[in-house]
Amino acid sequence: MTMDRLDLVKQIKQFLQTESAFGLTEIPKVSGARDVKLSTYAPCPPSPNRKTQLLEDLKKEFQTCACCALSAARTRLVFGSGSADARLMFVGEAPGRDEDLQGEPFVGAAGQLLTKIIVAMKLKREEVYIANCLKCRPPDNRNPLPAEIAACRPILMRQIEIIKPQIICTLGKFATWALLQTTEPISRLRGRFFDWNGARLMPTFHPAYLLRNPADKKLVWLDAQRIMKALGINV
Ligand code: URA
Repeated sequence: MTMDRLDLVKQIKQFLQTESAFGLTEIPKVSGARDVKLSTYAPCPPSPNRKTQLLEDLKKEFQTCACCALSAARTRLVFGSGSADARLMFVGEAPGRDEDLQGEPFVGAAGQLLTKIIVAMKLKREEVYIANCLKCRPPDNRNPLPAEIAACRPILMRQIEIIKPQIICTLGKFATWALLQTTEPISRLRGRFFDWNGARLMPTFHPAYLLRNPADKKLVWLDAQRIMKALGINV
């Protein structure tokens, strides 16, 4: 018998000993209860505290990551921020100069616009989780390379696995392409939900793109409203 089984037998014996004081000699069956196979239950989700701990552990594990050349030039690794138990997670592209200096995602001009979008969605920044495809800044804010996205992908995947958000909103083509494994234009992908590993994924335009193309803000607002509805937030 394994230790786990021995433990279980010991616990049942203890339980029956306690119960026998009340005249019970076997585990009582609740009237009307049906026998349900344990396999029909989904695994118990980790508590918010456990998720916070798992994210902390993951962050520590990659604090000194040197999986790609970007690590050599970084000031700080930008892991992600927000609630470990968020129902909504935003995934951006890569840290810029401000993010690299502060070690926080979306704190520059694009970040301020993202915060405005979150508030317009009747949420707080601390209630959602914000991460990027790349955790280190590409030089001169150039586009991420496919090899860099591939090298960094395991961290993002584990963040999503821990947080288990109901909805993932990918910001811009690189985040969308990284998660949907496609290269279709973002203009064709945005605005609809994709089923993604048990979550719903909504691609939308990147806030930095909106700063250059403010006329498209109304499209992002439509996408944000779709997310609000899916989260049960009054639009
Ligand atoms: N752009 C991003 O994609 N991520 C950031 O963190 C900042 C700007």
